[in-house]
Formats: sequence, C-alpha cells, structure tokens
Amino acid sequence: MKQVNPFYKSKEWRKCREKVLIRDHYLCQQCLRKGILTTANTVHHIKPLEDYPELALDEDNLESICPTCHNKEHPEKGRGKKVEPQRKRRATVMKAEANPERW
Ligand SMILES: [Zn+2]
Ligand SMILES: [Zn+2]
Repeated sequence: MKQVNPFYKSKEWRKCREKVLIRDHYLCQQCLRKGILTTANTVHHIKPLEDYPELALDEDNLESICPTCHNKEHPEKGRGKKVEPQRKRRATVMKAEANPERW
C-alpha cells in the first residue's frame, strides 16, 4: 500500500533534486547543523509537498538529508510516535481476541 507521488518521477524533480544535492555538497543539512557530516541521498521538502505544492521545485524549500533524519521528518512513514497507526494496531489485536480457537 505504498503511495508514491508521481511528482517524484518527473524530470523536473530529478533535475531540481540533483541541483540541491550539489548545492548542499551531498551532505545532510540537519546533521550538519549538529556538526556531523553525513552523506545525504534524499532531498526533503521543508514545507511538505502535500501542503505547499507550489513550493515543490523551490530550492529554498528543499534540503539534502540523510535517511535517518528523513525518517524523523516523516514519522508517519516509519514507526513514529503518531497516534494514528496505533488505532490500526489496536483494531488488529481486538480482531485476534475476538477469534479464539474454538476446537
Ligand atoms: Zn542527517
Ligand atoms: Zn521529506
């Protein structure tokens, strides 16, 4: 059930992404702020693409980022602290409890 925004496949994005990585010297900007040098392989939208589609290719809204920092920026993608996925998990548990082995 992975949803990939078709925008990320566009030529414009690939070009823009490349530019930002070069601008940032392929270093994670978030790690850099903490004084750590980490290779970035992702370009992150500081203001989320979904909310600010007009900033999709705005270099000021983009920063190079490493996977670790990126996961922190998008907790909903991993096992973050957001409340939403918990509801789902609980529903699964309830289902399991409602189906005891009968024989
Ligand atoms: Zn980082
Ligand atoms: Zn991102």
